[in-house]
Amino acid sequence: MAPSTDLDIVRVTKRFGAHAAVDDVSFSVAPGEFFSILGPSGCGKTTLMRMIAGFEHPTSGDIRIRGQSMIGVPANRRPVNMVFQSLALFPMMSVGENVAYGLTCRGVSRAEAEERAGRMLERVGLKGFGERRVTALSGGQRQRVAIARCLVLEPTLVLLDEPLGALDLKLREHMKIELKQLQGTFNTTFAYITHDQSEALVMSDRIAVMNQGRFEQVGSPRELYHNPATPFVASFVGETNRLQGEASASNGAIAVRLPSGAVVQGQGRAGQAALAFVRPEAVALAQDPSLLGSLPNRFEGRVSAVLFDGAASSLLIDTAGFAEPVRAVLPQAGPLAGIQVGAPVHVGWTADAMK
Ligand code: ADP
Ligand code: MG
Repeated sequence: MAPSTDLDIVRVTKRFGAHAAVDDVSFSVAPGEFFSILGPSGCGKTTLMRMIAGFEHPTSGDIRIRGQSMIGVPANRRPVNMVFQSLALFPMMSVGENVAYGLTCRGVSRAEAEERAGRMLERVGLKGFGERRVTALSGGQRQRVAIARCLVLEPTLVLLDEPLGALDLKLREHMKIELKQLQGTFNTTFAYITHDQSEALVMSDRIAVMNQGRFEQVGSPRELYHNPATPFVASFVGETNRLQGEASASNGAIAVRLPSGAVVQGQGRAGQAALAFVRPEAVALAQDPSLLGSLPNRFEGRVSAVLFDGAASSLLIDTAGFAEPVRAVLPQAGPLAGIQVGAPVHVGWTADAMK
């Protein structure tokens, strides 16, 4: 029977001296899945990738691809291929030669390699680019050459280490969508690493949030966003309001008393209750407090900043009893759409909105 996973990481640890760069990490990736590892710089993402590729060896644990242990298997014998942030294209070669290179290295005849490279270039939207120098291409085109060079080898698993990191913002936005579409078209399994939460949220089927060598949570983008398992995940994935204070819990309800004495009400897991989170889009706004009448959390505030960002603009609201301004989504329509700094406003949210 074919294994139901393409990749299994089983209790993998990598130490450099006394420091565990990767600390007892386990996960599996299903065939065709776009799986991302999201975490801040230095948390161990590249080290984990390099172990999967075979450039680095685990201190302990097992790495299996389609059920086969890779321990002791050299990098060039593993059915994986890696795309680096630098892309690592050969500047002296043409586009076609770059794509064909890996095939000829594996003993494919020159004629067949050229033919397969040409077909692959067509599939990534670079038909007719084979003769060009890679140095004459735009950033987005080079990105596609790097992907073509990787996919032409038909790897079981593609590893991508911050491949969009060198692109400017606009191109990055575009390439996110393009990469996701390419992955869907080829139905190849992708393990993608990034420190950029929006990249991970947009592209991934599942995301692992990594912090200091460990996985904090693995889940779909929606699960991570709406039900973060740890304070780190809540802060790292998306914008959020942090409410820290002293907690008391009874009957599944929690109350957090902020240092000022203000109390917020939620439904909660005791133990995490002292630190609660409310997403900006869960904060209701009204100039007339009676419009927030039934909400258990209602506070008076004043707009301290309007962060205009087109469709996703926000308000910061200095709120009585809160150490930091409450962040809310700026309404696109209605009486609050044109609200100005200094305007009084009431904020409110449900008990459910507190995580
Ligand atoms: P990330 O890719 O998430 O930014 P890395 O995997 O590159 O993180 O690094 C994780 C940690 O391991 C860092 O503290 C880094 O300094 C350390 N590290 C990585 N490679 C080596 C190495 N070859 N020797 C010693 N320490 C290393
Ligand atoms: Mg890295």
